[in-house]
Amino acid sequence: MTCRFTDDWLRGKRVVVMGLGRFGGGIGVARFLARRGARVLVTDRADEATLRESMAKLADVEVDYRLGEHREADLDDADLLVISPAVDRRTSAFYAAAVARDVPWTTEMNLFLERCAARIVGVTGSIGKSTTCAMAHAILQHPAARAEIGAGRALLGGNIGASLLEASGELTAADVVVLELSSFQLDCVEGVDFAVDVAGLTNARPHHLDRHGTFEEYLDAKLNLLRAVRAGGAIVVGTEDGAIVERVQAIAAERGARVIDAAYRQGGVHRTPDDAGVHGTPYDGGVQGAPYALRVPGPHNQANAHMAVKLAGALGVAESTARTALAEFGGLPHRLEFVGEVGGVRYYNDSKATSAEAVATALASFDGPIVVLCGGKDIGAELDRIVEGRWERVRSAVTFGDAGARLAGLLKTTRSAGGPLPVEQAGTVEEAVACARRAAQPGDVVVLSPGCPSYDAFVNYEARGLRFADAVRGLAAQVRGVQESAS
Ligand code: ADP
Repeated sequence: MTCRFTDDWLRGKRVVVMGLGRFGGGIGVARFLARRGARVLVTDRADEATLRESMAKLADVEVDYRLGEHREADLDDADLLVISPAVDRRTSAFYAAAVARDVPWTTEMNLFLERCAARIVGVTGSIGKSTTCAMAHAILQHPAARAEIGAGRALLGGNIGASLLEASGELTAADVVVLELSSFQLDCVEGVDFAVDVAGLTNARPHHLDRHGTFEEYLDAKLNLLRAVRAGGAIVVGTEDGAIVERVQAIAAERGARVIDAAYRQGGVHRTPDDAGVHGTPYDGGVQGAPYALRVPGPHNQANAHMAVKLAGALGVAESTARTALAEFGGLPHRLEFVGEVGGVRYYNDSKATSAEAVATALASFDGPIVVLCGGKDIGAELDRIVEGRWERVRSAVTFGDAGARLAGLLKTTRSAGGPLPVEQAGTVEEAVACARRAAQPGDVVVLSPGCPSYDAFVNYEARGLRFADAVRGLAAQVRGVQESAS
């Protein structure tokens, strides 16, 4: 493994970090570089007022700032440019100016990959990456699993959680790192010397085409992870798409790695007759046995669990150990997260669900009658597709936010089990929770599955999910108050 920008190299160098961001991205790398004696200049198109919180997190290290713009003259004395995954290299004038000046560039992830001595389980895909990674990490962190594979520490990072760069110096070959990798991160790994022990691909659907141009380019970026699998390693595949599986098999053959089929088939049955033809004999395993005992709902989480079991299994963790560890996995925040029970009604926060597909996934995840809270920023055609989900088990819907009125109109045209779907329109998330409480009966599920982005009223989906959870806690306190005053 060759590290191009070693700690020794970084000392005293002028490093320009492009993209600080508000949610942690550039903070870890700026701190890491400053602590290694680099002269760091952070530049971001957003202004100081917007970035105040991020800047406060860097208050204890010496960093210069160029905010509100990128100024090409800042590259004149630069030795290295570190770009955020949000930077589109095809259109960025600042990146082009660095290339024209022969300034080398890298990313936070590349700096980590070139330093990581631990075994790596890397996971990419269009959907289910974070959950699959968190599940694989939960398995690998379990003492029994660590004993089985002689692992020291098991860490989780990449596109999920905080930067692992600071920890990279302490990692040894006995440790295991589960890394979630986005297509944007994988689009930047060319020329980086790294190897992963296990590479996982959950699925590939046409996402982010505004950035990657074509599905082929998007898939090609994702396949960069599989191309980094070491000889004797494993590629774990969750999709049954024949064309993709063929590509994966070719990469595995070239790298001397094995392919492990992790496609989830309920009851061991292929989901469509066509899928059955996809699998040639090089596949190992893949047929799903008993369902996993999980605290997180829905068949999609069974699929994620299956993938996680196969990822850990590729390192040598027994399936029974993995099943035990998964039974304790509590789920990730804002993804069908259980937030509480009030008056016999269970409330779930699925604020991460910002597409029609995600709403459909939520609707398929519960058996009982559901009250669904949908709304947020209206981004056009996506809204029209929300009604295509399976609404027959839905007791009623409550809409809110910018999209509230249009969504209410659309949903009134769908049918629930008892006839036309009852729909109420609320203003805010809090009002929507109050409406849901009146509509739900004991035994029901209330789920915030917005199907829309949050930025009509919130900085991100996390803020929206937290507001929902607060409102549910408020209800619980109200109910307790009523009970206490009655007794
Ligand atoms: P990612 O990290 O790829 O964005 P997450 O694990 O954060 O994926 O899940 C985001 C949302 O995608 C979930 O809330 C759920 O609606 C949906 N989802 C998760 N896993 C799957 C899956 N295996 N198949 C289909 N949809 C899924």
